[in-house]
Amino acid sequence: MKFLPLLPSLALLASALSPYKAPNWDPHVHLSTCLSTPLPPFFLSRLAALLSPNATLLLPSSPVMQTTHLRWQAYAKPTYSLLVEVATEQDVVATLTRKVRFANTHSLPFLAVDGAHGQTTTLAAMRHGIAISFVRMKTAEVLPCGDLARLGPGLTNGELVPTGRCMCPGVTGIALGGGHGDLQGLWGRPGDQLVEARVVLADGTAVGVSEGENAELWWAIRGAGHNFGIVTAMTWRVYERVERWSKVLLVFSGEELEQAAGGLTVYYIVGTGPGGEVVVQVDFVFGGELAELEEFAAPFRVLGPVAEQSWEGKTYMEINRLGGSDETSELACGKGYYRHMFGSYYKRHNVTAMRRVHSILTDMTRKYPGAGNLSFFFVEGYAQQGVIKVPADSTAVPYRAYPLLSVPIFTYTDPSWSDDIIATTMEIKRVMTESGGPGEPPRGYVNYGFGNEESEELYGHEKWRLEKLRRLKRKYDPEGKFSFYAPIDGSVG
Ligand SMILES: Cc1cc2nc3c(=O)[nH]c(=O)nc-3n(C[C@H](O)[C@H](O)[C@H](O)COP(=O)(O)OP(=O)(O)OC[C@H]3O[C@@H](n4cnc5c(N)ncnc54)[C@H](O)[C@@H]3O)c2cc1C
Repeated sequence: MKFLPLLPSLALLASALSPYKAPNWDPHVHLSTCLSTPLPPFFLSRLAALLSPNATLLLPSSPVMQTTHLRWQAYAKPTYSLLVEVATEQDVVATLTRKVRFANTHSLPFLAVDGAHGQTTTLAAMRHGIAISFVRMKTAEVLPCGDLARLGPGLTNGELVPTGRCMCPGVTGIALGGGHGDLQGLWGRPGDQLVEARVVLADGTAVGVSEGENAELWWAIRGAGHNFGIVTAMTWRVYERVERWSKVLLVFSGEELEQAAGGLTVYYIVGTGPGGEVVVQVDFVFGGELAELEEFAAPFRVLGPVAEQSWEGKTYMEINRLGGSDETSELACGKGYYRHMFGSYYKRHNVTAMRRVHSILTDMTRKYPGAGNLSFFFVEGYAQQGVIKVPADSTAVPYRAYPLLSVPIFTYTDPSWSDDIIATTMEIKRVMTESGGPGEPPRGYVNYGFGNEESEELYGHEKWRLEKLRRLKRKYDPEGKFSFYAPIDGSVG
């Protein structure tokens, strides 16, 4: 993965920007090979003067930008001509505001960056813009009342008690699309845990959003949150930790697929078994004792797994690590690979469809053995009790009643495979959509968007949902500045 250097001598502007030294900028150095809108020195110096001491400006040639700011997928990614590591809400305001004006008056696009796991291809429409990163805003403060915490927008899942399953995506990115994770059966989806947020709008105005303040925007940012502004702080509900978690892992050869496909917590079709064959892994995770979990696993054990293991008395973080979703996992946290993924909701397992997916994966891993190692087909079946307690129309999250989410993830390094692997991904999507029955529309998860979905698929087929979202978009972001991630009006950027 390469970033085109902007000016080699300007690799890293500064970490403490006060006082700011103007870079040795040669206005005659033509930058159009990597920039459609070169950033003039006056912009950088004016912006630097407005930022707080802990903020940092990085240019594309910076080693930090080429390591820390790599993205999970390299197939279709945004490009930046400047990355601002903001440290305060005011830094965000300064970057967008009319005082700096440049970003707005020169149509320079901007994009918030949190855990850099957003993989939808629509993000690639952001070319040479300003990235606003929150790596310096990883604050967490439990409020005196004890059941709320104020979190900065830069925390990743693993830095917090995870709201989702994988540790590296950003908690803000997850919550803005609703989120999914092992805790949702207890308390609801990650986005349901928010009680208020601060949002900087496209014109640089910072506003509070909650049930009592900008209530419609509050509704919209929980489910379609990437479309309306930049979130600079959130207040979350916090809970007593569930101390003891159990896990049972059963691995089957593909032969038992038909029997293994019913009523599970989470199951995967894994890309590689011991001999490179496609196997089925059933993964039960439970916030309680193993003996109780075993009752759920028992019907599966009789099918004769080829491998099995169980754990008890683990913390939630340990359980996540066991699931291979921690910082050491190339699948969950590795950066810079070519990847494709999407999510499809459905209500019931359709074993004919599963068998078809199994054979598609078998063909694919035979054709591209290298892709098998980090390629999976997940079926996520998180508990639903906490999710359906939240009224369906109370947030912009659609499809609450759909308990299962199929997620193919393909990882590879040879770009010449892309067309074929994308075609395979789309074939799986067709199979999974048809598995719902004749005439059933596709139902996607915005956080697992591929990038070619119709807006209805990601935001709901009930007409009122998109009508409301589009009305709010016209109100809060009339010029469509926040339209790089699964845009609700269908037009990117
Ligand atoms: C390996 C992997 C594991 C995953 N695991 C889970 C999981 O367990 N549960 C789950 O629900 N989802 C999961 N996801 C999906 C995840 O929710 C989305 O990819 C999400 O967009 C990632 O957010 P991010 O902050 O890491 O990415 P980014 O690319 O940094 O952000 C994603 C989008 O959110 C916007 N955004 C980020 N921060 C802000 C902000 N402060 N204000 C406004 N907009 C902002 C960005 O502009 C971008 O458009 C996973 C994805 C991957 C690739």
